Amino acid sequence: MSILGLRVAVIGAGIGGLAVARALALRGADVTVLEQAEAITEVGAGLQIAPNGLRVLAALGLEDAVAKAGVQGRAVSLRDTGGAEVLRLDLTRLADSRYYFLHRADLIDILADGAREAGVKIRLLQRVEEVTPGPRPEVHFANGASLQCDLVIGADGLHSKLRQALNGGDRPFFTRQAAWRAVIPNITGAGAEARVHMGPGKHLVSYPLRGGQFLNIVAAEERRAWADEGWSHTDDPANLRAAFAGFGGDVPSMLNAVETVHLWGLFRHPVAEIWGRDNTALLGDAAHPTLPFLAQGACMALEDAWVLAESLSGHDTVSAALSAYGRTRRPRATRVIDAASRNAWKYHLKFPPLRMAAHTALRLGGRFAPDRMMHQFDWLYEHDVTR
Ligand SMILES: Cc1cc2nc3c(=O)[nH]c(=O)nc-3n(C[C@H](O)[C@H](O)[C@H](O)COP(=O)(O)OP(=O)(O)OC[C@H]3O[C@@H](n4cnc5c(N)ncnc54)[C@H](O)[C@@H]3O)c2cc1C
Repeated sequence: MSILGLRVAVIGAGIGGLAVARALALRGADVTVLEQAEAITEVGAGLQIAPNGLRVLAALGLEDAVAKAGVQGRAVSLRDTGGAEVLRLDLTRLADSRYYFLHRADLIDILADGAREAGVKIRLLQRVEEVTPGPRPEVHFANGASLQCDLVIGADGLHSKLRQALNGGDRPFFTRQAAWRAVIPNITGAGAEARVHMGPGKHLVSYPLRGGQFLNIVAAEERRAWADEGWSHTDDPANLRAAFAGFGGDVPSMLNAVETVHLWGLFRHPVAEIWGRDNTALLGDAAHPTLPFLAQGACMALEDAWVLAESLSGHDTVSAALSAYGRTRRPRATRVIDAASRNAWKYHLKFPPLRMAAHTALRLGGRFAPDRMMHQFDWLYEHDVTR
């Protein structure tokens, strides 16, 4: 099927939406991105782009821009509550060591510039209320207007309207975990590594952003109290400091430097059953919101975007393309999301003998089998959707 001139509406100017918009426009489609926000402004904090996500950015011609804006990660250092290193994973031992720490706003800028350059129209202040799949799918806006086109892509994140239309309401459950995120000046002088500070029932990850000028902090805690899901809920930094009061090493100085912090409740959502139907398709968080414990949310959205664009240009009909897309992506996304969901307990062990045993095993593994420690991630990072 030629996608030359195919009229595509993409809902959401996030990472997945902008990536698929550029990928389709480069193949000749006529693409419009509909974003609810009034501007593509500085929102969010750090993201990790592992080699599997980077390959998509490279195939989109954006690798140089990413390398310039990001910090290439060299290692992941797992530390105990006191700050002593338990295990060091050398990211330069990965078969493909292009692993970046990036500010979400910088990645969005790169993708938005890339989309516009490929001819994509980005329309702001376009809040979508409903999508009607069909031979000519229709997007209905909050202001009463509507738009018809050949294909609608729902890249509208956590609370996707298209997901609702294709799969009905999903029933997420609160995992009894919440995470704070903040950006602070790099007062610790930390180099190009992610540090994971592990304690009973909680852990804190930090890594550098923007040439090492800043540090991104994500701190997760098991808790009884409810926390809302979403990216824009602020919290009092004192709550974050209180939660991690027992930690040593870099943690107290980092937390003292936090002035503004966001808190998000961690919910598990089922991966969508239906990814595409009647000239509509889901991608990214709209199809499979993930917990942050594998740092793959952005990478999965990028992989989806590439596979969807390739499927559309490689099949005779939109319907065949959408079936192939869902068949390819659903098992992969499910595996990644399940792995992320299982990861938290590894950092959060509470029972002291178990903690000690686990830390000893990690130390020994890191010393005597460093390659094996790294190859456990091959299924994730070596996956190449662009090949
Ligand atoms: C404001 C914000 C801040 C974030 N901060 C972080 C962070 O600090 N760290 C991190 O790891 N991840 C963050 N994320 C999530 C991360 O970007 C995504 O998990 C991941 O990149 C998957 O991207 P996506 O394109 O599927 O969805 P998203 O990146 O969530 O993009 C969805 C887009 O759709 C738009 N949208 C939603 N509903 C509608 C609607 N009804 N009509 C029109 N437009 C709509 C949203 O405004 C957004 O631009 C953030 C997401 C957002 C929206």
